[in-house]
Amino acid sequence: MTEPTANRTPGWRFDNSYARLPETFYARQEPVPADAPQPVIVNEALAESLGLDAKALKSGEGTAVFAGNRIPEGAAPLAQAYAGHQFGHFNMLGDGRAMLLGEHMTPHGERVDIQLKGSGRTPYSRGGDGRAALGPMLREYIISEAMHALGIPTTRSLAVVTTGEPVYRETELPGAVLTRVAASHIRVGTFQYAAQWRTTEELRDLADYTLERHYPEAEAGAEAGENRYLTLLMEVIKRQAALIAQWQLVGFIHGVMNTDNMAISGETIDYGPCAFMDAFDPATVFSSIDTQGRYAYGNQPQIGAWNLARFAETLLPLLHDDMEQAIELAQDAISGFAEQYYAHWLAGMKAKLGLFQHEEDEADEELVKELLGLMQRHRADYTNTFRALTLGEHEAVRSALGESEEYAQWHARWQARLGRQPESVDAARDLMRRSNPAVIPRNHRVEEALDAAVEQGDYSVMERLLAALSKPYAYSPEQDVYCELPSSTGLPYRTFCGT
Ligand code: AMP
Ligand code: MG
Repeated sequence: MTEPTANRTPGWRFDNSYARLPETFYARQEPVPADAPQPVIVNEALAESLGLDAKALKSGEGTAVFAGNRIPEGAAPLAQAYAGHQFGHFNMLGDGRAMLLGEHMTPHGERVDIQLKGSGRTPYSRGGDGRAALGPMLREYIISEAMHALGIPTTRSLAVVTTGEPVYRETELPGAVLTRVAASHIRVGTFQYAAQWRTTEELRDLADYTLERHYPEAEAGAEAGENRYLTLLMEVIKRQAALIAQWQLVGFIHGVMNTDNMAISGETIDYGPCAFMDAFDPATVFSSIDTQGRYAYGNQPQIGAWNLARFAETLLPLLHDDMEQAIELAQDAISGFAEQYYAHWLAGMKAKLGLFQHEEDEADEELVKELLGLMQRHRADYTNTFRALTLGEHEAVRSALGESEEYAQWHARWQARLGRQPESVDAARDLMRRSNPAVIPRNHRVEEALDAAVEQGDYSVMERLLAALSKPYAYSPEQDVYCELPSSTGLPYRTFCGT
């Protein structure tokens, strides 16, 4: 006999360590209750990994929590204060439409933030309504879960509920709340806020808290005489170099790499106007507000370094008593980013071509760059080109690229290179399968799923898409439909921010 849903407990175990930081870092704030919340989706696999009961989360009680209408026991909601460089301009920000319920302690001893996004106004809302529309919240759900399945560090999405209230953008849209799960929501912008407006003691509190939460191993080094704040800086640089390389390797464009959208944990955060590139072109931009192309695909590594330099600046008072020495330490650390990023990127690109790492062939870098150059010139689809190479389907590179003589020459050189490495052809193909996703959240598929959900209340299209995206490296025949390109509309794809 199954337990009646009403008696099931979801299994929340809240702690509120962020709330033990000085009060200047947040504002205690209850979510604004929604009129008539309705469940839309609960992420069962994520719930299970967090030690939560998905059935209970789907019940009326669960929906009430996800809508902000009920505060689970032990949670102490707050809105976080932060600042940030938005498109290069420094602003005071903060959670304007999000609220941290608290930190859930998983059965594996992990501490994860549970955040409601779209849960009403806070002291940091400025002119905003504190609300979110259903489409963009489902979009974050789909893309963040796709990123997770691709093996890329990211915040996760636990649930979406509708509020029963309209939100007004260019048109009237159904309101919704997304429940986001993150290692934490501490951002570069949180440090910028502390450095700009708080005392050095408060900045140190934040840095110590961050170290304890995300880099506990730094404590041993500090006891051995290492500078723990330099360790923090170097670890954040290390994680971001790896993260941004992973974005580049799958063709992910974040869209708003403002410093408030760069997490200290090394997770991808804030899926606003993000999208995956189709045809390979470093200049690709999707965001309607990024008119200068600041956050174009090819700029992401440099922007990462720029944001990390802003982070380093905030740590100067902690790095050394002598400012000149502090600056030197910071500059040395930042200058390491480019090399680390490039090493990850090249290793990843080689793996996409089935080349093993222990092989040091100077010509590999050229081989990679030539392929990318050809892809760009022939406007070849990024994901599908690597998929076709993985499948060994010559004809699958059906674009102008596949028909070109220069591609045939490149292909022959690549085959010869594969033949020179000691690993078997099968081993190389396995490596390629693990490194080249067959399925990514293609823009037209995401839009199709959102249209069905928002316009018709039909969530089945999204559920099928999510199922395909959950196994991006499966290469199963039923997924082929998700590899198809949109029939060309002639219009560039655009995504919208602040939605
Ligand atoms: P984003 O570009 O999504 O990272 O948002 C930048 C800042 O604007 C963040 O501090 C958000 O909390 C805030 N914000 C975005 N949308 C709204 C809204 N509808 N109401 C209030 N604040 C918002
Ligand atoms: Mg943000």
